[in-house]
Amino acid sequence: MCLTQFPLMTDITTDQMADDSSATPPRFDDFGLAPPIMQALADQGYVHPTPIQAKAIPIVLQGHDVMGAAQTGTGKTASFSLPIIQLLMAHANTSASPARHPVRALILTPTRELADQVAENVKAYSRHTPLRSTVVFGGVDMTPQTAALRSGVEILIATPGRLLDHVQQKTLNLSQTEIFVMDEADRMLDKGVLPDLPRIIN
Ligand code: AMP
Repeated sequence: MCLTQFPLMTDITTDQMADDSSATPPRFDDFGLAPPIMQALADQGYVHPTPIQAKAIPIVLQGHDVMGAAQTGTGKTASFSLPIIQLLMAHANTSASPARHPVRALILTPTRELADQVAENVKAYSRHTPLRSTVVFGGVDMTPQTAALRSGVEILIATPGRLLDHVQQKTLNLSQTEIFVMDEADRMLDKGVLPDLPRIIN
């Protein structure tokens, strides 16, 4: 994928060792996150954002595209999940109607293990909100995934192949999707997802 396709994308890279540790550390309170999200962070015992979170969260909250690079285990999942949940709070509702819970955010991951892990994080961070999420990946029966999709979810975590299976079988409608994340984009591109990307984005 060529970055010139995304002219408004902000590119951030963090180096934990190089980040200024003498400055007052930022706090999650600084971002203006909704109380249910702050409650979830308190449940997890998180007070200070990691460097990638401190850089990415304000940019995503402003609705800008961002490309982030940081080492494994530095809190990248929350750096996109938290602002996505905050942005989707505008759509949060407790209606039982699936039509009121269209997929608004799609998070693509290269493997089922990562998909599961991201889904667990998203569930934990959104647990005090009415927002719904689910995960779909290959190698397992599509039926329970289809049932979850039919009941309506705002946040969908998926691996590319199974995502396209659901699109093809019309068990998934992405027409109201506003937010798109490629987690571990480098690994995904290594796995040959590039030819499918225009279809997914379209
Ligand atoms: P990740 O890089 O997203 O896989 O996160 C690595 C680990 O750091 C996970 O166990 C997270 O639960 C944890 N984590 C993420 N953000 C924070 C934070 N701000 N403070 C403390 N731990 C965190």
